[in-house]
Amino acid sequence: MYKEGHAGVSFLLFSPLMLFFKSIGADMTYVFVTCVLMVALSSLPDIDMELRKEYGIEINHRGKTHTFLAGILFGIAFSALIGVAYGILGNLMGFIAGFGGTASHLLGDAFTYEPFEPFYPFSKKKIALRKFKSSNRLVNNTMLGLGIFSFIISYEPSIFWLILNSIKSILGF
Ligand SMILES: [Zn+2]
Repeated sequence: MYKEGHAGVSFLLFSPLMLFFKSIGADMTYVFVTCVLMVALSSLPDIDMELRKEYGIEINHRGKTHTFLAGILFGIAFSALIGVAYGILGNLMGFIAGFGGTASHLLGDAFTYEPFEPFYPFSKKKIALRKFKSSNRLVNNTMLGLGIFSFIISYEPSIFWLILNSIKSILGF
């Protein structure tokens, strides 16, 4: 899957979290920042390709960086990083963004053709649901569109009615 598709899956996965945090009266500014961060990190596992191409490092694509273990490590790293700025709250934001970004990436890649071992080193089970090619433009763009839509609606549900009413008035219902 491409960056656009991974960003879409991240937005989509974060939407229920958004609703949850809203329902408990959390400060939505932090929730919003966490979501943006998670989306920004949703292609982090593909750093393996960059490392190989840019620095000639011998690392298999869809290897170690495409595991939940890597997700936990990325989560801890970003937890420490964001914690410097926002304390305990930052620790939580960083972990959600780092782990969530990676987990959403694995979910997206799972539907493509190239197998990988997300549960390594605990299980060597290879995953490839073979539903679409990573390079499928339509799937990538649709995913991004769906993700942004669900993000907007869960951030501010009234926008849904605003859009619906605008469409209605344009079409003259
Ligand atoms: Zn990938």
